[in-house]
Amino acid sequence: MMTEKVRCLIIGSGPAGYTAAIYASRANLFPVLYEGLQPGGQLTTTTEVENFPGYPQGITGPEMMEDLKKQAERFGADIRIGIATKTDLSAAPYKVMIDDEKVIETDALIIATGATAKYLGLEDEKKYAGMGVSACATCDGFFYRKKVVAVVGGGDTACEEALYLSGLAKQVYLIVRKPFLRASKVMQERVFKTENIQVLFEHNTIGLFGKNGVEGVHLVKRKGESDEEKVDLTIDGFFLAIGHQPNSEIFKPWVETDEVGYIKVMPGTPRTNVSGVFAAGDVADPHYRQAITAAGTGCMAAIEAERYLMNLSK
Ligand code: NDP
Repeated sequence: MMTEKVRCLIIGSGPAGYTAAIYASRANLFPVLYEGLQPGGQLTTTTEVENFPGYPQGITGPEMMEDLKKQAERFGADIRIGIATKTDLSAAPYKVMIDDEKVIETDALIIATGATAKYLGLEDEKKYAGMGVSACATCDGFFYRKKVVAVVGGGDTACEEALYLSGLAKQVYLIVRKPFLRASKVMQERVFKTENIQVLFEHNTIGLFGKNGVEGVHLVKRKGESDEEKVDLTIDGFFLAIGHQPNSEIFKPWVETDEVGYIKVMPGTPRTNVSGVFAAGDVADPHYRQAITAAGTGCMAAIEAERYLMNLSK
């Protein structure tokens, strides 16, 4: 199998990966970055990004990612198409297999593979993608000012998203499949106390409807019970908040993760339990999951990689 040796390998092409590439190339680490399954990352599925500092008029997600990519390439980052399929991080240099056909050996590795929002798996979620369906209230909530939205899920994320949206939208429905919320008590209390949030327990989503975007949601109340009932709600936006899955599977044999799969880092740093292996962005962040925080940790990972490599060569 073909093998190539590099000093600094970055896996992932969201804000974390590209920012790491900008810093690493400016530090003469000659980074190689593999874009992965979704070049540009999660932001390529959003429309307007209005909360990334420096864009007073906003920018589309795909455009912003293209800019970050160009900025990294300007300083010599070698950005390639390819998917990391397997790793061996048992000893340095670390080995990462690309597309099952090539091995990259690297002294320092930056994991920036992100996380993937979970969807219900309905055809309509794809049909209305970017047209009323979103998995990020902080990103897209602003477009629903004074409108009616629904959030699906019963965990802390769903409550947080519903609370955030309640400050913008006229009415928020929280669609929960069980007769109770899984979220922490304090979050539940906040939700129940908020006047414009209505919690719909024991409701399952079966579809969406609308001509030029989401205009409503088809629900089933008490699915499978004798009193099962079909309910249609008129809404303008449909938000998924049923969890995220960090893309950490191929690193798990070597790098410590939490029970969900988020890579564990030393608090306040992007250092994993394997020296020379750093994690940045959503793959290591169950809390903030913002482009700007991902970019910040990408920067930190590149600075850490530079220091690590400097010490190696001493
Ligand atoms: P969780 O796994 O905690 O909750 C997922 C929710 O989505 C559950 O209510 C679950 O329902 C529901 N769900 C899953 N699949 C479906 C489906 N197919 N149809 C309908 N509903 C579905 O994920 P979260 O993202 O909420 O939280 C992840 C972790 O992050 C948790 O540990 C949480 O505490 C933490 N977190 C903490 C925050 C904070 O402290 N501020 C904020 C956000 C997250 P069911 O209950 O029926 O399984």
